[in-house]
Parts: sequence; structure tokens; C-alpha cells
Amino acid sequence: MRMDKLLADSGYGSRKEVKKILKTGLVTVDDKVIKDAKYQVNPNDQEIRVGEDLVDYREEVYLMLNKPPGVISATEDSLHRTVLDLLSNEWRSYKLFPVGRLDKDTEGLLLLTTDGEFSHRLMSPRRHVSKCYQAKIEGLVTEEDVEAFSKGVQLDDGYMTKPAELVITESADMSYIELTITEGKFHQVKRMFKARGKTVITLRRKSIGKLELDPELKPGEYRELTSEELQLF
Ligand code: URA
Repeated sequence: MRMDKLLADSGYGSRKEVKKILKTGLVTVDDKVIKDAKYQVNPNDQEIRVGEDLVDYREEVYLMLNKPPGVISATEDSLHRTVLDLLSNEWRSYKLFPVGRLDKDTEGLLLLTTDGEFSHRLMSPRRHVSKCYQAKIEGLVTEEDVEAFSKGVQLDDGYMTKPAELVITESADMSYIELTITEGKFHQVKRMFKARGKTVITLRRKSIGKLELDPELKPGEYRELTSEELQLF
């Protein structure tokens, strides 16, 4: 790829700004000074530096975010903070977008990527990638609810959900549960409980397929997926 595109994509400024940096002679490829904006460079095989700074270029980016409540799973919003506002400058030059959505008040595992094909693979209804949620529910969740979810429940628009696995962790005035679903209808978990006359108080996504939210990530924190994690999909 062209040198100026690589530097611009890696967060060193606009193409114009990057050309100015190149003119200073600060940019090296395998220790050779490169001033030509059109110079063809291969970031996978060559060591590119701007001064002391090693350019860490990614063709595609995959981030795991522990989404906090109160931010929107979108790339822009005129009123609210979005998940992209949580990212440091290093990631701002990449065209990241969230893989699917979590409601504004939902927390937990959200993937951000630049890779449309990866996103499509995870979201495709035909692939039935499972998603596991932990929730606090007002009132008593019972074995009848477990049974009903395992058969599918009818949502308010008439849609019959696919079988889902409900595990009750604690059942009292407030219940704590884990629910695994293999589809992603709008507000699905909340509507499934509503169909059983119950209200979700808090909701947190714990995993997508075999990928678990890293327990080290505090709400609002994120990290790149490892190559092992990427191979889970
Ligand atoms: N189900 C919901 O109701 N909300 C979410 O954010 C995710 C799943």
C-alpha cells in the first residue's frame, strides 16, 4: 500500500499532514529514510517507523469492549455518547463499528471491528451464534419460565422465539439468571421476560459463542481480540 495512506490510516494525520511528515525525513522503512508519499510499503513484512515510533498498522481491527450502561451502540449520535467515544486516539483513525447492538442500558461484551465480513458472519441469523446474558429480574423466576423458554415464547409482535436456555442462579423478590439465546431480535431478552409477565432490571452480555468477556476489563475498557479468540468464529 502507499506510504501516505498507511500513515494516515495509522493515525498520523490527513494525507496532507502525512506528506509534511514524510518531507522531514523522519519516516523510515527497514531503517531506510522514505520521503516519497507514493512509496509502496508492506506493513506485514517491513518495519516502519516515524522517528522512534514503531507504526503498528492493522488491516482489520477487532476489539472486545466491556460496554458500560449509558452509551449507545452506534458510530454516531447527535444526543448521546457512543461506544466509539470510549476509544483512545490510537483507534479513532480506524473505521470501527459495533457488531450488532446492545441497548443503551445493557452492559457487557460488545465487539467492535472494521471487518464487515466478520460482522456479517457473527450476526447472520442462519449461523445461530449463541449469546449468553446475565440479568436481574424483578420477582420470582420459576421452573415454568425455564420450561417456557426452552420451547420458545411468543413476543408482543407475535414472533415465536427459538428455544433458549434459562438457568436460575437465585430466585427471590429479585431473581438472578443466565439466558442463552441464538438469535437477536430487538430488545429480545427484555421482551422474552415481558412475555412471562416479568421485568428485566439489569442486563449484561457475558459471551458470544465461545468468546467470554475478559473479566479484567472494567466497564468502558477494551482490548484487541487475540488470534486464538479470532479463531473462535
Ligand atoms: N436483549 C435485550 O433486551 N437487550 C439487549 O441489549 C440485548 C438483548
